[in-house]
Amino acid sequence: MTTDGAGPLVELDGLKLYFPIKSGIVLDRHVGDVRAVDDVTLTIRRGETLGLVGESGCGKSTVGRTILRLYKPTGGRVVFDGRDITSLGESELRPLRRRMQMVFQDPFASLNPRHSVGRIVGEPLRTHGLAGRRDAASRVRELLVTVGLPADAATRYPHEFSGGQRQRIGLARALAVNPDFVVADEPVSALDVSIQAQIINLLERLQEEFELTYLFIAHDLAVVRHISDRIAVMYLGTVVEVSTAEALYDEPLHPYTISLLSAVPIPDPVVEREREAILLAGDVPSPANPPPACRFHTRCPYVQPTRCRDEVPRLRNLTSGHEVACHWAEDIRDGRVKPHEVEPVFDPGMPEPVPEPPPV
Ligand code: SF4
Repeated sequence: MTTDGAGPLVELDGLKLYFPIKSGIVLDRHVGDVRAVDDVTLTIRRGETLGLVGESGCGKSTVGRTILRLYKPTGGRVVFDGRDITSLGESELRPLRRRMQMVFQDPFASLNPRHSVGRIVGEPLRTHGLAGRRDAASRVRELLVTVGLPADAATRYPHEFSGGQRQRIGLARALAVNPDFVVADEPVSALDVSIQAQIINLLERLQEEFELTYLFIAHDLAVVRHISDRIAVMYLGTVVEVSTAEALYDEPLHPYTISLLSAVPIPDPVVEREREAILLAGDVPSPANPPPACRFHTRCPYVQPTRCRDEVPRLRNLTSGHEVACHWAEDIRDGRVKPHEVEPVFDPGMPEPVPEPPPV
């Protein structure tokens, strides 16, 4: 879908979401924070699909849930359709919840096995007072047909359906309240490759038909490429690169994106043979104790002395609409800085709990 010139539907400004680490048996003492999302600034334009990618644990699902206000942000702002929703209470959020829906990763766990499909898909209609019993039943049948299921699926139960069909039920449930914005949290990761394409095509068709805006969360760059207008890449709670899908794949500028893309196979044996995968050293550090300055410096194959370890790289516009958080992005792009071996760094992980004071 072309979204050039479309205004923002969702704006994140310096968004932070920290989960406190508590210790102590009698007194719960705050001994640190898991910084799941740390200073994320992003815009999602009306009618577009923004792909959000990164390794598991990088904070991408937490961003989606914080936009939907399933979590209260620790800092920063969430603006939805021009309204600041960062601090709204549950009663103020209720009318907005209808406009923001979520599709979950696991189509097995996200549907109540004891409820019929009709009840599952119709539940949001009743919750938001959008339809009486009879209207709800006919709307449910209509929705099931829209997502490619037979209308009589309403009388059956989730266990009677395959993974792909269950994901269609999840989509019907999300669409029931006619939302503007859908967070699709790894919606195809649990499905067979052959089914993934069907669900992606369905998501695209529904976007056209219902004028939806998507935040599409995934760890698989190949999947995100197909559906996204723009892509944001996350590493350890921060966004390191944002651009159109085309530009990101044609000319990735952040070393993390370059490494991720170097591992995606290309369906051309000649090109594939000549390509060199850039391997990342070590594991992802703990978000409870992220490396200072550039968070990627402990694994970055392009890391340079001093500046990478001393100064936080801010997300900056390199070319029109292509933003990157790396001090050396131009030098890497122009070949002046080359990848080299990196010694894996020991990650101390979570902070040690503070010992209890001795009894007096
Ligand atoms: Fe790598 Fe340095 Fe760029 Fe960070 S700032 S991504 S460590 S080159």
